[in-house]
Amino acid sequence: MYISENFSNDEEGNLTISGVNTLDIAKKFKTPLYVMDVNLIRKNCRKFKGALEKYCETNSFVCYASKAFSCKKIYEIMKEEKMCVDVVSLGELFTAISAGFPKEKIYFHGNNKTEEELEFAVKNEIGKIVVDNLSELKKLNEIAEKNNVVMKILLRIKPGVDAHVHEYVTTGKIDSKFGFTIEENEALGAVKLAKELKNVKLEGLHCHIGSQILEIKPFLLAAEVMMKFIKKIKDECEIEINELNLGGGFGVKYLKTDSFLDVDECLKNVISLIKQKSNEFNLKMPSIAIEPGRAIVAQAGITLYTIGSIKQILKEKTYISVDGGMTDNPRYILYKSLYEATIANKAAEKKVKKYSIAGKCCESGDLIGENVLLQEAEEKDILAVFATGAYNYSMFSNYNRNLCPAVVFVEDGKCSIAVKRQTLEDLIRNDV
Ligand SMILES: *Cc1c(COP(=O)(O)O)cnc(C)c1O
Repeated sequence: MYISENFSNDEEGNLTISGVNTLDIAKKFKTPLYVMDVNLIRKNCRKFKGALEKYCETNSFVCYASKAFSCKKIYEIMKEEKMCVDVVSLGELFTAISAGFPKEKIYFHGNNKTEEELEFAVKNEIGKIVVDNLSELKKLNEIAEKNNVVMKILLRIKPGVDAHVHEYVTTGKIDSKFGFTIEENEALGAVKLAKELKNVKLEGLHCHIGSQILEIKPFLLAAEVMMKFIKKIKDECEIEINELNLGGGFGVKYLKTDSFLDVDECLKNVISLIKQKSNEFNLKMPSIAIEPGRAIVAQAGITLYTIGSIKQILKEKTYISVDGGMTDNPRYILYKSLYEATIANKAAEKKVKKYSIAGKCCESGDLIGENVLLQEAEEKDILAVFATGAYNYSMFSNYNRNLCPAVVFVEDGKCSIAVKRQTLEDLIRNDV
């Protein structure tokens, strides 16, 4: 009935998440509110780890791409699940370290890491830095030398694969701002330089071909390009690449009718291809890493809002306005992303009418969705929007000086605050 099995209705017809009544949660913690099902997050981690370990005989690493949802508590969960994490900024790195996440299991990404960021990463001797460009490679080597450490690195490669997704989220193409191209020996040049530099150690290669990918094919294409490049590196530079990181992008269901990527099937096929290419090219099978973000947290999250004003525009359109909007969920205004929703206190009633769900910001485009089928809506109803666990809280903005909602974690029938609601005092804390 719902997009995933952790949602249900109780006897009174109210929506539950992992067995807990969402109305009770909304009453206790107020709206707007992000609610995350930790049991599902753990299950997703185990799904990825289980599949990699099943098919891959070499070492394998599942790195949670924490830009999808980042706060101290999530890094604690990732630590318990024995995951690696990837971070893309000093802020995420600091949060992970503050949460006691093991530094050696952190990968650091980004196309324009600042000296401050590199210095912090080096001083903390984090696991691996995924180097994006030559200037970063040289800078990193200098900083590592100054601090007397040898940093493990991966090189970010553009495999030139178009993952057939929304163009804003496709990053593997040649004209992407991320990484080295294999063409014109740009990437090979970086490998050669890394070999010369004393304070970096080239551990492997990385690629990430896009997000919300629903087919296995682009992953196979990327893996093949990367294996060919690994062979070229061995032939021309006499370096064996130990690790191949294939990035994230595993597509999930946002609507009941959506298709999604079968993770087990995908990893089985990808690893089988890598094995085959290793044999064919006479290479040792590299360790495999992947970086799912969305697929770990998207479906685990819902957002609860209180419905305010309801406006019927002529016959064709009815707006319901909620106490949040593009500030807590900018994905509609950014990508026209679709979401399913239900009125939590009428979850068992029939959905009878299509609504446009508007936020409270001063932008006409501030919508959570259009033509969303819902039960008959009334003021003070609690609206639950599904699959908001990824790229919602992490993309929050204080536009219009709206406050950031709290994040509540539900696990084994119990609720706890993971992130407190922003206060008005927080809002002016840095104002002078
Ligand atoms: C965004 C990103 C990911 C995660 O992407 P998802 O689509 O959330 O799985 C992984 N690796 C890199 C380098 C990224 O930029």
